[in-house]
Parts: sequence; C-alpha cells; structure tokens
Amino acid sequence: MITRTPIAVHCEEVVSPPAVTSWQRQLGDVIRDPAELCRRLDLEPTALLGANTGHALFPVRVPEAYLKRIRRGDPDDPLLRQVLPVAAEAEPTPGFVDDPLAESAHTPKAGLIHKYAGRVLLIASPTCAINCRYCFRRHFPYADNAPSLREWDDTLDYLRADASIHEAILSGGDPLASPDRRLASLVERLGAIAHLKRLRIHTRLPVVIPDRVDEELLAWLRATRLQKVIVLHINHAQEIDDDVIAACRRLQAAGATLLNQSVLLRGVNDDVGTLSALSERLFEAGVLPYYLHVLDPVTGAAHFDISDDDARTLVAELRKTLPGFLMPRLVREIPDEASKTPL
Ligand code: SF4
Repeated sequence: MITRTPIAVHCEEVVSPPAVTSWQRQLGDVIRDPAELCRRLDLEPTALLGANTGHALFPVRVPEAYLKRIRRGDPDDPLLRQVLPVAAEAEPTPGFVDDPLAESAHTPKAGLIHKYAGRVLLIASPTCAINCRYCFRRHFPYADNAPSLREWDDTLDYLRADASIHEAILSGGDPLASPDRRLASLVERLGAIAHLKRLRIHTRLPVVIPDRVDEELLAWLRATRLQKVIVLHINHAQEIDDDVIAACRRLQAAGATLLNQSVLLRGVNDDVGTLSALSERLFEAGVLPYYLHVLDPVTGAAHFDISDDDARTLVAELRKTLPGFLMPRLVREIPDEASKTPL
C-alpha cells in the first residue's frame, strides 16, 4: 500500500545500509502515475480522467512484474481493473464506510488486532507493493499503528501474557514489504513465545513481485520452529504466471503450507468459468483455494460489489465444476462476529 515508515522492528544502532536486493529495487520502481500506467498499456486517453479522480483518493501502485501480465489496449482486462482507479471511487454509497470491519474497536495495542479467539494479527508493515482498488484497508490509519521498537516489545508482551493465543498472523499492508532483517527479528521473537504454534503470513507480494521470495526470506522462514501457513491473495488465473509458480514452489520447499483467498469482484472474477480456472491454476501452483470473500463495504469500492444472493448462485454453479478440495469457502466478514460468516 502507500509507502510509509515501516513499523516492524526498528534497528536503533547505526549500521551500514544493506545492499538493495532485486525485489527492493522493483518495489522502489513501481508505477505511481496513472498517466504512465495508461500510456504503458496503450489505453485511450479517456481512461485517464477517471483514473486521476481515484488516484487522488488512493494512489496508484503497480509493479512492473504485474504490469507485464496485463493485456495491452484492453480497458476490461481483469488485472487492470484491480489496479486502475476509476471516477466511481469518489461517489459515496450508503453502507460503504472507511472501516468496514470495525478493526479500530479491536486494537488493544498499536499494530495489533485481536478479533478472533486463539490468534492475533500484527500489522507488520504499512506498505504494499500494489494498491488494490477494492482493499478494505485503503483508509486504515497506518500512522497510528506504527509502533517504535519499545512499543513493538509491548505488543509482543500482549502475546506473551495470553496463553490462549496459538497463532500470530503477519498482515499489513503487506508484511513481506518489510526488510528481511526486521522480519527475521520479529519471527525469532515470536518463536520464543512457547504457547505460539503457528505463524501465518497474509501476503500478495509473491504474486505481484515473485522475486520477493529470495534466499534471505527463505532463510528466516526455514529457521523458525513455528508451523508456517502462507495465505496468498490471488483473484484471477491470469495473475499466476511461471514466475509466481516458481515462487510458490520455493515457499513450499521452505516448509510453508500455501492457501489462497480471493475477493469476489464485479468485472474481475464474477463468473463460473473464471473462478473455476482460478482454482485449477492455483492447484497447479501447489496452492489450495481457501476463502472467496464477498466484498467488504469500504468507501470507494462499491462498483466492485455483488449481492450475496448472486454470490451464492455463482458458487452453487461453481460447485458443479470442481472437486470439493478446489472449492473456496464463500464468506463474509461481519464486524464483532466470532469468525467469518459462511454464506
Ligand atoms: S488487498 Fe492486500 S495487497 Fe492489496 S492493497 Fe490491500 S493490503 Fe495491499
């Protein structure tokens, strides 16, 4: 998401800056200008007018590795629709709000969200490589959830003090947007908490910049005693190219279980053929479909919305095309519910 000061574990001692890796270079070089995005994709100038309106509300971020999977000259490309701002983002829609999951009510410590029993979510990075137009955290107050080193220790004390917590979920932003030395330090501290069993990482980076899965990342992933689950975020089979498959294989070889969650998005993946192809392609990459979320009603994303009834109909049809293990669970997240709600 928007580049802000990383919040994970800050080094206070003076150290030489580490060498910039390939993925960090790619992260620094993401397309941030709607005009450049339209020009690079041979889009008609009319696309730019709406793009500038949406960009003013939530800026464009598109990595080159993702750009190359978008069809040139096609304003309806399903990957383009996920990243190109549109004028409709500025239209207020009843029921669509800045904090659709009421996360602010479940933040006992800066950078920590505790909604569900047995697991807590850590905002390990306020940054993403890509800005997805439908993101439910597009208005998230990252600046208020950027603990200093001392505050981060306080956050971990919350986990240490509650033996019912068995799973730590790294989220963001995209947690893998943080440098590996910070993540390694954080994961080492988590591994030292005896009652923690699992480390879950919610990330889109291996999809949008597959080079992110490099040896440094794999080293801390391999090293932890915690069981590792990586939940990717892929909405369309076209997002899975050979580089993404290779990145998934590296993560698996490091001992991670790979799952995927998608968001059901109008004009992107709201038909049976597209969802079926996504599940098939995920499995080719060694990833199991996990959740298919209906859209969280966040301000600026109403144009992606699909009614619950239409979603149920779609999934009933999808079930006729796939083996059970390739069927994602259709869910809605409702504030203050004890778990996701199956539809
Ligand atoms: S959906 Fe994920 S990757 Fe996309 S902007 Fe939101 S947090 Fe970042």
